[in-house]
Amino acid sequence: MGLFHCPLGAPYYDDDACIDCGLCYAKTPEERVEASRKIREYMKAHAPRTSAVSKVAVCGKGGSGKTTVVALLTLALKEAGRRVIVIDADESNPGLGRMLGIKVEPKPLSDLFGEDGIFSERERFCMDDIPPGFVSAGDGVRFMAVGKILDPFQGCACSLAEASRQVVEKLELKEGEVLILDMEAGVESFGRGVERHADTILVVVEPSFESIVVAGRIAQMAQGMGIERVGAILNKVSSEDMATRTKQELEKTGVKVFGVLNYSPELAETAFEGKPVKNGVGVKEAGAIVAALR
Ligand code: SF4
Repeated sequence: MGLFHCPLGAPYYDDDACIDCGLCYAKTPEERVEASRKIREYMKAHAPRTSAVSKVAVCGKGGSGKTTVVALLTLALKEAGRRVIVIDADESNPGLGRMLGIKVEPKPLSDLFGEDGIFSERERFCMDDIPPGFVSAGDGVRFMAVGKILDPFQGCACSLAEASRQVVEKLELKEGEVLILDMEAGVESFGRGVERHADTILVVVEPSFESIVVAGRIAQMAQGMGIERVGAILNKVSSEDMATRTKQELEKTGVKVFGVLNYSPELAETAFEGKPVKNGVGVKEAGAIVAALR
């Protein structure tokens, strides 16, 4: 089994990182379920234990507004005195850099993790180790991107997901730094174990049946990885009644709610235009969410 398929990142069976879960050689659905159980147990037992929020993965159904929420959380974390590093880990959507006011798109991080990548063999690295051109700075934020699928026949997104997984695992943060990732939509990244070394999973939920179901699945998988700080941010909520009903539905699936971002025509316009999110609407609510994470 190849590099991009082992949930633990082992390059081959019997490598030091391999726990012999059996997934590589499972032939029946029962054997795959048993291998999956072994992986979840291992991840739970080896999950990072940290009290401070330091590596935050923002997930959710496509269209739930993850990118806007990441931009708002970035402003709120800056207000809270944190030095924010943002990674665009979504291989499709292009708008996060613009929303953060980034003028120059960085080179794709996946170039640093491929077969000839300078970080492929590194166990740890910090922001100072990342070569120029791969980090774009703007308004107190450092921004990176794993890369995008841009061309037909470019291949699958496995190498991009693997770059995300390695950054979350290997990037050593300094005092006051916080890493926030805008993940690809849905649950595939969890199947690949990308979020395994995150300490916080925020699921963006819009008031819709599908979004709530996806949130339940994400929360279950995140907890299966041993991540303790897992919860939802309700987004684009049109009324208090809708907020209450969405919270109630999430509670039924065991998903905690960290906060609510109400529907804002101003933010919708900003998202439509692809303009930078300003320090105004939504930032106060995002600040309350950041405070609730402590
Ligand atoms: S047996 Fe499990 S841990 Fe080992 S390489 Fe295969 S998938 Fe990874």
